[in-house]
Amino acid sequence: MVSGTGPYLTDADGREYVDLVCSWGPMILGHSHPEVIAAVQAAVARGTSFGTPGEGEVALAEEIVARVEPVAQVRLVSSGTEATMSAIRLARGYTGRAKVIKFAGCYHGHVDALLAAAGSGLATFALPDTPGVTGAQAGDTIVLPYNDLDAVREAFRAHPGQIACVITEASPGNMGVVPPEPGFNQGLKDACADNGALYISDEVMTGFRTSKSGWFGIDGVRPDLMTFGKVMGGGFPAAAFGGRADVMAHLAPAGPVYQAGTLSGNPVATAAGLAQLRLLDDAAYEKVGAVSEQLRTLVSDALTKEGVAHRVQNASSMFSVFFTDRPVRNYEDAKAQESYRFTAFFHSMLAQGVYLPPSSFESWFVSTAHDERAVQRIADALPAAARAAAEATAA
Ligand SMILES: *Cc1c(COP(=O)(O)O)cnc(C)c1O
Repeated sequence: MVSGTGPYLTDADGREYVDLVCSWGPMILGHSHPEVIAAVQAAVARGTSFGTPGEGEVALAEEIVARVEPVAQVRLVSSGTEATMSAIRLARGYTGRAKVIKFAGCYHGHVDALLAAAGSGLATFALPDTPGVTGAQAGDTIVLPYNDLDAVREAFRAHPGQIACVITEASPGNMGVVPPEPGFNQGLKDACADNGALYISDEVMTGFRTSKSGWFGIDGVRPDLMTFGKVMGGGFPAAAFGGRADVMAHLAPAGPVYQAGTLSGNPVATAAGLAQLRLLDDAAYEKVGAVSEQLRTLVSDALTKEGVAHRVQNASSMFSVFFTDRPVRNYEDAKAQESYRFTAFFHSMLAQGVYLPPSSFESWFVSTAHDERAVQRIADALPAAARAAAEATAA
């Protein structure tokens, strides 16, 4: 791609696409939003990196604290990966424990210890999912099925006094959209509290997208630590972790848990993030919610018309299409879908100028810039794509 404007991307051959990836979430105001671009240009003119706290860093931190009530203190970093990595280190340093519970199908960036997505449930050792991650790096990671509180309670019983934290996507969007069942996040929080572990809610994807205060604004469960990225960077590398003041006090230089970053709180990135967050008022969330609902209906109607078994699942404006007629509660369910139908569907949409996430295990993202013309172009492409999905055969 060579340029982006509003809901459109243009590739090197001059073809324009309606963009339903939005850079995997950050571009919630669409591409090249004039006010974000102006803020970035003004910031660049003031200097591009100071290596010491700046005004923009403080203002962005204050905006996060104001929006997300459980965040008493926040530390800025440059990527979601750094945010989760640092939050895990802090949880381990704070509790003096080694083990971490994560859920199969949840993605927390490419932190070595968190790339273990498969494994033997309650077994102590999760096998690394990618070459380059050693058993030692993944050995303290316990991988459990999502939406299964019994498995979490059993893991705490099996490893008394050893589990530092549970990390979960606030509402998962990295196995397709699989929202937490009612009471699941509260159950995690309670299990952590009962066992002296920290509850870490990863809101890198959901933060400032699913509501003004992210998924916390929807389910109200108070995490001990939270992580943010994507939307808060306004299309630049800015991310954060934060939470309880007594936990954050363990972070260097106030405390002993080391964490640093040369470009953390970068003035250009924080200017972009701040400009974007300040434009994200109630009306903006209503707009992305309405576009999302419109698209969910259009996609579902097109697939129904061609007799294609499917489920459209959403978490606020995040949504994805599963090619199955069964509810998708966890990673096993997600993997059981007929993904080959998605492949045909995807390529038909792409050929017609609509850019979807190139995987059936990813959320689709919309922006406030997705207007009637953009929606109409998607609607026009859907019948042929639905037919392609219907005619697809397993490879
Ligand atoms: C994208 C994502 C990350 C990683 O963020 P990067 O900025 O790509 O490192 C972590 N957690 C979740 C839930 C994400 O969606």
